[in-house]
Parts: sequence; C-alpha cells; structure tokens
Amino acid sequence: MELIRSISKMRDWSKSHRERGRKIAFVPTMGYFHDGHLALMKRASELGDKVVVSIFVNPTQFGPTEDFARYPRNLDRDIDLASSVGVDCIFYPEASEMYPEGFDTWVEVPGLAKGLCGASRPGHFRGVTTVVLKLFNIVAPHVAVFGQKDYQQLKIIQKMVRDLNIPIEIVPHPIVREPDGLAMSSRNTYLSAEERKSALCLYKALMRAKELYEGGVTSAKALRQEVEEIIRSTPLTRIDYCFLGSGETLTEEEELGPGSVIALAVWVGKTRLIDNVLL
Ligand code: AMP
Repeated sequence: MELIRSISKMRDWSKSHRERGRKIAFVPTMGYFHDGHLALMKRASELGDKVVVSIFVNPTQFGPTEDFARYPRNLDRDIDLASSVGVDCIFYPEASEMYPEGFDTWVEVPGLAKGLCGASRPGHFRGVTTVVLKLFNIVAPHVAVFGQKDYQQLKIIQKMVRDLNIPIEIVPHPIVREPDGLAMSSRNTYLSAEERKSALCLYKALMRAKELYEGGVTSAKALRQEVEEIIRSTPLTRIDYCFLGSGETLTEEEELGPGSVIALAVWVGKTRLIDNVLL
C-alpha cells in the first residue's frame, strides 16, 4: 500500500492507473478508522480495481467551537487497518497544501444544507462539499463510496455531482453498527462508560419509530413524540434535532411514507451523535 502526501503525486498515481485501464474507487474519510470505514473500503474494492482512501481532518467543515483540535487521529493504526482490507493507496494531504494562503473558492448546495445538521453547524456542509470536490479533482476516481450514517451529507454530495456534471458514480453504503445497535463513529471514543450506555437511545428511538411506522403509524407528530420521549427519558442527553420528512428533499412531512427518513442529532454529554433510519 502506498502513502501519498502531495497533490501532484496523487494526480500522477491516478493518471498512471487510469492510463492502464484501471477503475479507481475512492473512500474519503477523516481517519481514526472503525468497522464502518472498513466496510466502505471493502465495498470500494468490489467496485474498482484500485482503492484510494483519503484521510483528511478538514478544518473548513468544523465550526470555531467544535472538536477540530481534539478529533481523534492515529495514522499508523489507520495504515495497518486500511492495508488489512486491501486498500492500494492512502492520500494524506497537508492542510497547508489543500488550503494555501489566499484560498477563496467555495461550493455550496444551500437548499439541502439548510436544515438538520446544516442548521446546527453553520458552514459545515460548505466545507464538506468544497473539500470533497477538491478531493474528487485530485484523486480522479471513477466511483466513490459514502456512508448513509451521514445521510444529509450523502444527499448533498449526490446533488453536487448531478448539478455540476461530475463524472463520478456515488455509491451509498448502509450504516454499520456496534453489536448493540449504536452507529459506529470515530466520535464514540469521546464517550464515558455512562454516556456510552445513554448513546444507545438514538438507535432505540429510531427502531421504535420504525416499528410503529411498520405497524401503520404514519403521522410525523405521533412518531416524533415517541422518539423525543425515549431520548428525553435517557440521562445525559439533549436533543439537537429530530427530523421526520422526505429522504430526497430533506423537507418535513406531516405524513411519512416510503422514502421518508427519520434523522436525529443528540448531545450525549459533550459529544454530538447522529443516526437515522430510512422508511
Ligand atoms: P468520517 O471519517 O466520519 O468523515 O466518515 C467517512 C465516511 O465513512 C463517510 O462516508 C461516512 O458516512 C462513513 N461512515 C462513518 N461511520 C459510518 C458507519 N457507522 N456506517 C457507515 N458509514 C459510515
């Protein structure tokens, strides 16, 4: 497996594999791998001949009071894990090369980025779309895999790719969970033992709502009540948002149906966790 730090070397690597007719599959990440990341990499190796994973804790997608500085990082561990699932290349750029002095071009998908995480994290998705487009231009993959854990991010990237005619196929990957149901996340490492117990309320609430929906309850109001009650009755938690609506337009619906999504962001102690379920 190769570790590439410079943008020009990454371009050369991709160009030479493209010239040899290889299909390049790409997984952008912020590192500190868990089994969710590794599942995306395995999916990428089914989709392409060569797999590139980027590790970049992107400063422009963090707000001034967010966890950029303390976001977990461990490159040596990530290299071992990625090579264990057959990744061919890790792209690990420097922030100073990604955002040189005077950088001032941004990509925005304002409609889809308005609500949910976009409302509580102003500027977050502008940072995400900008860095993902830059990574797409540098890595030049044929296909890229994104997790449904970050559902809003996935929809925004799909829209950016359509709207800007980016010749890359976006492949969604289902949420990978711990045995008890907690969605895997690099941020789960922030949780104390007590908080880890409380964190399960996101999954529990979503599963309860799905069960009610499958039993015929389609009223967003009724489902919201149930979800919020489960979270409110869990210690150490505070709801950031509870969204029930269209999985395509990300606008709220009064009656849910096929294609609707229930998405949650919940503070557990000082850690903000997200999860969702597609109906
Ligand atoms: P991150 O390193 O958190 O930016 O995530 C990199 C990619 O992995 C994104 O496409 C995420 O949606 C995806 N991802 C993170 N956690 C999970 C998970 N538990 N299940 C599926 N995909 C995930």
